[in-house]
Amino acid sequence: MTARPPAVRIAVVGAGFAGTVVTARLLAALTRPAALTLIDANGRFGPGLAYSTDHPRHLMNTRAGTVSAVPVEPAHFTQWLSRQGAAADEDAFVPRGVYGRYLSELLDVAASRSDIPLSRVTAEAIDLVADSRGVTVRLASGDAITADHLVLCVGYGPRLPRRAGSRIVDDPWSDWCDRVAPGDAVLFRGSGLTMVDQALRLVANGHRGRMLAVSRRGLLPTTQTAAIDTLAVAPPPRLRDAVRWLRDTAAAAGDRRGAWRSAVDALRPHAQKLWLGFTPAERDRFARHVQPYWSVHRHRMPPAAAEQIERLLGDAVLKVCAGRLGAPEESAAAVCVPFTSRRRRSSSVLRAHWLVDCSDPQRALAASPLSFALVARGLASAGPAGIAFRVGSDGVFRSGADAVPGLYGLGPPGRDALGEITAIPEIREQAARVAARIAEAVNNGSAVE
Ligand SMILES: Cc1cc2nc3c(=O)[nH]c(=O)nc-3n(C[C@H](O)[C@H](O)[C@H](O)COP(=O)(O)OP(=O)(O)OC[C@H]3O[C@@H](n4cnc5c(N)ncnc54)[C@H](O)[C@@H]3O)c2cc1C
Repeated sequence: MTARPPAVRIAVVGAGFAGTVVTARLLAALTRPAALTLIDANGRFGPGLAYSTDHPRHLMNTRAGTVSAVPVEPAHFTQWLSRQGAAADEDAFVPRGVYGRYLSELLDVAASRSDIPLSRVTAEAIDLVADSRGVTVRLASGDAITADHLVLCVGYGPRLPRRAGSRIVDDPWSDWCDRVAPGDAVLFRGSGLTMVDQALRLVANGHRGRMLAVSRRGLLPTTQTAAIDTLAVAPPPRLRDAVRWLRDTAAAAGDRRGAWRSAVDALRPHAQKLWLGFTPAERDRFARHVQPYWSVHRHRMPPAAAEQIERLLGDAVLKVCAGRLGAPEESAAAVCVPFTSRRRRSSSVLRAHWLVDCSDPQRALAASPLSFALVARGLASAGPAGIAFRVGSDGVFRSGADAVPGLYGLGPPGRDALGEITAIPEIREQAARVAARIAEAVNNGSAVE
């Protein structure tokens, strides 16, 4: 009797979109004995931060026809929608909670069809060591898991803890809205899509009080428009020239607001190559000066959300200001926050019943113990744009110039190597590539490549 080869150990940390898709692909592609462990701090396997909300007004900002989780089956999501008895319109912006259920089911179906055992572990990863035994991840529970291949898919990080009894809300996705009185004044730090979601959630709860959103430039996300054709001409490689190219492309397209959105969409297919060619100084200048404008044109509101926000602005229920908020001081009844206006260069103190932090969703990742450990071990860097994994364009981590065998990173923190890697289409491709690479190594009989 021949002995069965030992099962290859594979672990995935983070079960949002990236972790779910890479796990489902591995379950389908592995043909040799393996054991798969999927670890998530929240204990929800599928939705991650973006698709955990069950609020019907929290819509996806990408069309149903573009968000299949299976690269080779573009209609996979719309077919799933029709099996649920829902309208399967390719151009619809569906509630994000619906998409979260789709991802959970994708994982369940992949696990049920595979011979590979999948263990789901609810725990926060707090440290990671790669050595000759493999990659060992330490968990906050005190346990440790060693794997031959480990994929980090921690996206926006674990959820930020709540300040008990406080009017300062660090995690906008917590249940703070339920504690707000209808007439309370709410101050938002940030004016992007997270602020939009929270303002709509408040209004749906019957809120009638004032809302003020403050961000560096006071810009709101633009509105989704019809898809446009990709430009055949690539932008020039230097940041300064690329920004000028973007301006000229927008100006050539006529109508100013819509033209900018079209120009940004035209640049998107070239964004990764462009980013990879930027010097560190150019990346820094991008984060400081260009990012706010790029973000509002790139991450847009679905039309239904935009209509409601327009109404709130028109009724002066919601205001958006450019400036900086300082450190808040809290009393039993209110929060006072120093404010420096960008336009008037004047300072004042804003008083509200609630201060809700809707700024960069990567804050939670930057504050997590795992990030500190990755930075200390030289596997990630901390910069003005947050935590960035030191991964190559192949998704494999680097320590100095050397690849770290068996350690991979997916999703938004991989942007230093891949440029923008935030949205479903880019992460889907990246997850498929990494899963194929691991499956090939395992199926060919080597634990690690
Ligand atoms: C509110 C919001 C809405 C969005 N809407 C869209 C959209 O409509 N369309 C689109 O294309 N893109 C959208 N995006 C972009 C989004 O980046 C991607 O679509 C995708 O969801 C990112 O998935 P992820 O798995 O990388 O990250 P996440 O969704 O953040 O998932 C990471 C998972 O890792 C877990 N985790 C984190 N740290 C640890 C740890 N230390 N230990 C254990 N587990 C950990 C978390 O609990 C979480 O479940 C949205 C983003 C946000 C924030």
